[in-house]
Amino acid sequence: MQSAEESDLDPNKDDLPLRANTNHMLVRHYVLDLTIHFESKTIGGSIVLFLEPGKGKSMETPDSAPSGESTSPSPLCEQPKQEPQLHLQPQAGASQTEVTVETCDHKHVEGTEARSWQEGASDEFTLVLDCCDLSVSKVEEVDVASVPGMRALLDDCEQPPQAGCLSFTLVERLLALSSSCWKEQHDLYLQCSTAPCPQGAAALSFHTDRWSLQLRKRGVGSPSGFPRALRIWYETKPKGASVRWTDTQDGRCCVYTMGSPINNRALFPCQEPPVAMSTWQATVVAPGEYTVLLSGENQVVPVQKESGLSRWAYYVTMPMPASTFTLAVGQWHEAQAKSGTGVPVLTESSNSTPGVSTSGCSSVEKPCHGSNQEFQGAADGPAQSMCSHVDYPCRFTLTEAWREAIIPHRVFSPTCLLPQVEAVVVPHLPACLAAAHAVLGVHPFSHLDVLIVPSGFSSLGMASPHIVFLSQSVLMGPAHLCGARLCHEIAHAWFGLVIGARDWTEEWISEGFATFLEDVLWAKVQQLSLHEEEDQLHLRALLRWRRLHDELQNAEQELQILRPHKESTGVVSESGASTVKHGLNPEKPFMQVHYLKGYFLLKFLASFTGHEHFLAFLRLFVSLYHGRLVLSQDFLRMLLDHFPDVKRRGLTLEGIYADWLDAPGIPKWLTEESAAWLQSPLVTEVQQEVTKWIHFSRGHGKGTKRKRGDPCLKVNFKEMGPEQTVLLLEMLLEEEKMSAGVLQTLERTYDLRTQDAEVKHRWCELVVKHKYSAAYKDVEDFLIDNQAMGVYLYGELMLQEDGRQQALARRCFSRAQEHMDPAALAVVSEMIL
Ligand SMILES: [Zn+2]
Ligand SMILES: [Zn+2]
Repeated sequence: MQSAEESDLDPNKDDLPLRANTNHMLVRHYVLDLTIHFESKTIGGSIVLFLEPGKGKSMETPDSAPSGESTSPSPLCEQPKQEPQLHLQPQAGASQTEVTVETCDHKHVEGTEARSWQEGASDEFTLVLDCCDLSVSKVEEVDVASVPGMRALLDDCEQPPQAGCLSFTLVERLLALSSSCWKEQHDLYLQCSTAPCPQGAAALSFHTDRWSLQLRKRGVGSPSGFPRALRIWYETKPKGASVRWTDTQDGRCCVYTMGSPINNRALFPCQEPPVAMSTWQATVVAPGEYTVLLSGENQVVPVQKESGLSRWAYYVTMPMPASTFTLAVGQWHEAQAKSGTGVPVLTESSNSTPGVSTSGCSSVEKPCHGSNQEFQGAADGPAQSMCSHVDYPCRFTLTEAWREAIIPHRVFSPTCLLPQVEAVVVPHLPACLAAAHAVLGVHPFSHLDVLIVPSGFSSLGMASPHIVFLSQSVLMGPAHLCGARLCHEIAHAWFGLVIGARDWTEEWISEGFATFLEDVLWAKVQQLSLHEEEDQLHLRALLRWRRLHDELQNAEQELQILRPHKESTGVVSESGASTVKHGLNPEKPFMQVHYLKGYFLLKFLASFTGHEHFLAFLRLFVSLYHGRLVLSQDFLRMLLDHFPDVKRRGLTLEGIYADWLDAPGIPKWLTEESAAWLQSPLVTEVQQEVTKWIHFSRGHGKGTKRKRGDPCLKVNFKEMGPEQTVLLLEMLLEEEKMSAGVLQTLERTYDLRTQDAEVKHRWCELVVKHKYSAAYKDVEDFLIDNQAMGVYLYGELMLQEDGRQQALARRCFSRAQEHMDPAALAVVSEMIL
């Protein structure tokens, strides 16, 4: 069944292959039953897949998404045909032989002898799953007909299905149960997952290669005859790249899923292409003293087993890409709110968006289009939300959910970080959630767990359904960095999770939006006035502009492009397989171009519509596209249709592609606009301080040697916010020379050792540049405590060709390497060795 196209798939080393043949067969539900083994650093057990024969290539053609006017779902998001319907026959094309081995009541059964993988290769259907570094021991069919409750699905059948089709029909009907019956459905999934394999049936033959697990059933030549429920017995490998076995900051072992680049394929065999949206249930058994967090919508109370183990059972009812599944197991503790430390939360009257609709009506209405004045509040309640996704219990339809500004949330942390977590994260989290609700509307997920991940985690945060991972780097210093990062991860619930990218190369769709919204939400949390908000947005824009500018100077042209597949973005092979361009490029995890350029594109668009109108449009976009996957063009087309005036002013889809998405480098608008940010009040304040420092520094270096702390050197330096301090230090980094005395005064003036990690990072750069050895301890501490941020600092230490600095880099590396993220480890060891 493999097409020529697919067997030709030969990704270069930088591209990540997505091999699953989702066009032939789709996984609709997973039931995982796993046990965590800390001694062997493995996770073992079984996964049961519930499958549906694919609908062919038409599913993924990218140009069929609706524009702003349309309320019809894309082919991908078709509503299932209401209640189960009776299908007496498997789909056309199923050959006779397929039926003969299907059910346990059939007399003719397959032999159980092993046979080579090549046998039958030419005429048998192969189910390809994304899989890497897993030891698979057995693949078998599941006898769903043996589950008593399943037969009830046939109650309304006038004629029972033929024996050979019984299991097909049962799984089909199970998958098609309406969302109102999800509890019964999940119960049946669970019962099926422990059902035996059909009596006398042979195990399926399987084969693994570097990126996939391939399955065949003897004599089955097409997806329609392939079993609909399969159980795979397997175990993960200690070095498998989906899971990280490491220690918490308390020195206790733990394991968590890594996300990119290879997502979950080394945790369970799955379909990685985002179009394969599925639901899941997962039971995880771990030692009793461990907490198991998993992307599930239920808050779990573990069941203690007599053996000292406990069992945690999670589920989700919203279909999502398997890549969003997240697991973390460790000895973490729940942080508690201290009374009186909470940050004031926005109230309805203090936010600018209209209140929540109290109408109980959940009928579908068309959004207002046309004039910009009309749509304010178009998405502020269930009545205005248009569910055009597959059927699932959707929070967008619930009045109670719309009223819930702050969803239930918990924060988990190692014991040694609890004081910081309780001082910084716990008090801000409710305010950040409320700000997101005020700006974006209903929370797509019913609760949120935040986990402070081990020190080797490779970024500042990661969002998954119901879980946010947060780096310890955001805990130090003032709350600014932590609050903004929380806002960023919370915004991903809308952009990245409930609306995902249909093609992963379009990472900007989640990261650009989350970066843009991070500023908006954080300004709301701080309850800034309009003026203050604008000033802060300008300052943040300027900092990001400087970062982008720097990054593009050194980055390969190819990696600067947000839509590298251009017009074939979202296009997949006949089978559904594709590659993620540059998905495995080792430099990619350290690049921010998708965040930054994506963020600036949104700022550019907002400059046409006006800020408030743009936010209102985002709500409208969410109300239409939640529960679905999108390409850039879905968003851009809807925007251009929605704001006819913007189109009249010359903005076109082609123009946006050409300037922003399909080309390397910096769009012209950005170069012009950044000049204006330089004039904004918070920035000019910094410039004035920089001038004072430069004056001070040059004076200090000249003439007679003045003593440190000489009172005549006293200059009145202004107090500044954390981001102003970052900018100040960046600007001072451009100075050729700064003496030890000046650096010492600088450190004391801003109390740099107590600042957040972004400020400290710039401070360390200054220390390294000017070989200020009195502060080498700061650099060392920074590299150990902030592994997600220090990668390039290693490079700077090595570049100076200073023995002491190089020794410092090597010392830090040898201290940190055991817990370092593998990607960072590879990059740093190359710099150092
Ligand atoms: Zn919905
Ligand atoms: Zn992000």
